[in-house]
Amino acid sequence: MTSGAYDDNNIFAKILRGKIPSHRVFENEHVVAFMDVMPQAPGHVLVVPKAASRNLLDADPAVLAQTIAVVQKIANAVKEAFDADGVFVCQFNEPAAGQTVFHLHFHVIPRHEGTALKPHSGKMEDNAVLAANAEKIKAEL
Ligand code: AMP
Repeated sequence: MTSGAYDDNNIFAKILRGKIPSHRVFENEHVVAFMDVMPQAPGHVLVVPKAASRNLLDADPAVLAQTIAVVQKIANAVKEAFDADGVFVCQFNEPAAGQTVFHLHFHVIPRHEGTALKPHSGKMEDNAVLAANAEKIKAEL
């Protein structure tokens, strides 16, 4: 079972409602994808279903199917946009697993051989860099 209730005022719910800005790279009826503001590598994207769920544990399987299809699309786009050797996809459930924002999201992170990931929730990236990286990804979609 889940470890808490869904809070409609979490930061991703506010981004989905347009109350907080984000660098969006993709949107369809069910899913939004935007740049992570503390990227673990250039091109780090978050794929977020519009439907409310705290994380994977309480999500509707139909929403998961819609979301993972977008994860695949974004993974291919970031691989091309950043000429990556691979793509890391990850997702955290509850604080013990490292979750800090309690609206379901998947991390999609381009990886290059020999380059270590920066820390999770580490340093804020400049807006101009995030905007430029978003444009690179959009060009591949
Ligand atoms: P987690 O819940 O542990 O999977 O991590 C939440 C992620 O959201 C972290 O990678 C943060 O850098 C990222 N994040 C937090 N606030 C924002 C925001 N306003 N816009 C985009 N990404 C964010």
